[in-house]
Amino acid sequence: MRKKYSRRKFVKQSSLTGIGAVLTMGKTTNLFANRLQDTGTPAILGGQPVRTKGWPGWPIWDPATDEEQVIKVLRSGIWSRATVVDEFEKKWAETIGIKRCLATTNGTYALITSLRQLDIGAGDEVIVPPYTFIATIEAVLMVGAIPVFVDTNPATFQIDADKIEEKITSCTRAIIPVHILGLPADMPRIMQIAKKHNLIIVEDACQAWLAEINHQKMGTFGHAGCFSFQNSKNLPIGEGGAIVSNDDEFMDRCFSFHNFGRPYGKVVGTVSGEYVILGTKCRTTEYQAAIGLAQLKRLEGQTTTRSENAEYLKSQIRDIPGIIPYELYPSVTRAAFHLFPFRYKKEEFQGLSREGFLKALTAEGIPCSSGYATLNNMPYLDNAFQSKNFQKVYPKEMLDFNGYLERNQCPENDRLCNEEAVWFSQRMLLGTRSDMNDIAMAIEKINKNAGKIRESLKK
Ligand SMILES: *Cc1c(COP(=O)(O)O)cnc(C)c1O
Repeated sequence: MRKKYSRRKFVKQSSLTGIGAVLTMGKTTNLFANRLQDTGTPAILGGQPVRTKGWPGWPIWDPATDEEQVIKVLRSGIWSRATVVDEFEKKWAETIGIKRCLATTNGTYALITSLRQLDIGAGDEVIVPPYTFIATIEAVLMVGAIPVFVDTNPATFQIDADKIEEKITSCTRAIIPVHILGLPADMPRIMQIAKKHNLIIVEDACQAWLAEINHQKMGTFGHAGCFSFQNSKNLPIGEGGAIVSNDDEFMDRCFSFHNFGRPYGKVVGTVSGEYVILGTKCRTTEYQAAIGLAQLKRLEGQTTTRSENAEYLKSQIRDIPGIIPYELYPSVTRAAFHLFPFRYKKEEFQGLSREGFLKALTAEGIPCSSGYATLNNMPYLDNAFQSKNFQKVYPKEMLDFNGYLERNQCPENDRLCNEEAVWFSQRMLLGTRSDMNDIAMAIEKINKNAGKIRESLKK
């Protein structure tokens, strides 16, 4: 379906016959002036790239403001978890508006620890989206539960809440909504479903720092919320993660679990020397917490910049035929934009494949990617099902891989992963408006020359 012409398009059209008219349009004038120059040959066909400048680097580190506490920690010799980790946990809990936070080695172990301490494991089914990072699904398998995939809503890139209930069985114990790409999943609807069916919610907020629905931060809706602070993430520590919750008993158990099952808090007991629950070790370090505290200072400002740039970029590309940017649910008051996603329709690009489009866009100086592959049909699942732990717990027909693949088909997600999704990374959204204009201009240039590009790639 063709979209109606926006005012911008209209002005651009009229400007072809009278540039003078454009000059009265105020702020938008420069953009059109830029766009009008853009009639050249695509870079992939030997023309000038739209952009030769680089993009903001990642992670950002300012020795003048960031290093003092890190160096203090390094020189103190107290490197294993102590007061700086406590401080980071307190700050993160305050920042997102929740009672407790436990820092972990990474987001993966935040998920595993949460699932374990909510007693999710052998014999349980956990509803998950296929459009996520692999760690979401691996966490479910690591505790011995079976992931049940619910298809993606391609407009929002999130789990399609309307398709959750049909996947609920007597074995379903939990849902893991993932706020993938930093865009909130439809939590009001998902919480309703969870309440109706008495299911546990563990939010994978590993890409959703400071994102909000109705001014409530993601990670604070479910029984537990999990975060990642890995190097590429919007709050980067290198490696790191956190569990947040308002449930003291649960958080005390998580603490104990992450510290070999040593006693912790009221619930787990305070007698030392005894190991009271089965635990493991996934503690973070003092210097990681010091890095986290330094990074936390810039998260608010960066989140605003990303949001503003994402909204602006969306407005600049939404009318290009064949480009369908992400949609947010109406309840979303803030998104984190770990990535900027849109769908690419090759029909509107004279049949130029997504791969060809990505190549051409990269040649214009715009880094981009096709994003996630389909996670609901890969060999790691069968590998888990063939393990002793699974074989002893589940009936054979439940672990039959062909049957599993059949039950877990996600056609919308297949199309998104295999044909349509395109991403820009969060660091590009830290640039300027003129950087966003470059992106829009490059896409338009490829759109205009799509046929020629397709032909040249055939050779
Ligand atoms: C990064 C990520 C994780 C895992 O976090 P790590 O810190 O890398 O272990 C889990 N889920 C999602 C959606 C992620 O993006």
